[in-house]
Amino acid sequence: MPPVTRNKHFLFLIADELTDCIHSAMLILFDIDMTLLSSNHIGVTCLRDAGRLLFAPDFTIEGIVFGGGIDPNILRDMLTLNKVEPTKTNVDALRSSYHQMLIEIANDRAVAEALPGAHDLVNATATHHSQPTLGLLTGNYQETGTIKVVSAGFDPSLFTINAWGDCSPHAEPKRSHLPPVAIERYQAVKNTTLDPQSVIVIGDTIHDISCAKENGCRSLAVATGHDDFGTLVRAGADLVVDDLTQTGELIEWMMKT
Ligand SMILES: [Mg+2]
Repeated sequence: MPPVTRNKHFLFLIADELTDCIHSAMLILFDIDMTLLSSNHIGVTCLRDAGRLLFAPDFTIEGIVFGGGIDPNILRDMLTLNKVEPTKTNVDALRSSYHQMLIEIANDRAVAEALPGAHDLVNATATHHSQPTLGLLTGNYQETGTIKVVSAGFDPSLFTINAWGDCSPHAEPKRSHLPPVAIERYQAVKNTTLDPQSVIVIGDTIHDISCAKENGCRSLAVATGHDDFGTLVRAGADLVVDDLTQTGELIEWMMKT
């Protein structure tokens, strides 16, 4: 065949490699609760019981909104609701007791189970030829979030760039502060810049969507948790699915640029 065909073939190879290079600058951030897994309210129950142990036998969590929240704010709200001063000492004590209770239960039985399709999607992204980076963007504290992830059978070492619930650098922490934390960590580790459009936030609440949108990231919403399908659509998610079982389609959507 004439040289032009060989050149064409060569150009296609180069194009593939370039595409891979572009795709490799991608960060996929998974929420934990009701996105990757369900803990069947064990975490919430531990928090309530920790409050009862430390502060008052009638310590209540009635009316506290957990879905999409971040632990520092949730613990502060719990203390305030129960007329306990939300000082750092009190928040730290509640956090520590919650952690100890979750450890004790997790030593005895699973405290979380993976939601449909979650394992397949994590594995498919982790092994994809374009080598995206995986991370966790979650309201959980690291120590308790990790217990849930491990208990549900995920390998925590797959998630290398994480933004935990207490990672906001601001005095009034919000979930929307977390994507820039993850992006900064990515850029520091990889020594490169990362376009927010190459960051995908996967979550089950309108708060996961808004934290993505506010930071120029893409959002994949899954209706396995707090907010239903229509609510997630109205919140402006880039893609909404019933669950994470359509692995191939989700991978195709995520990898398109
Ligand atoms: Mg969630």
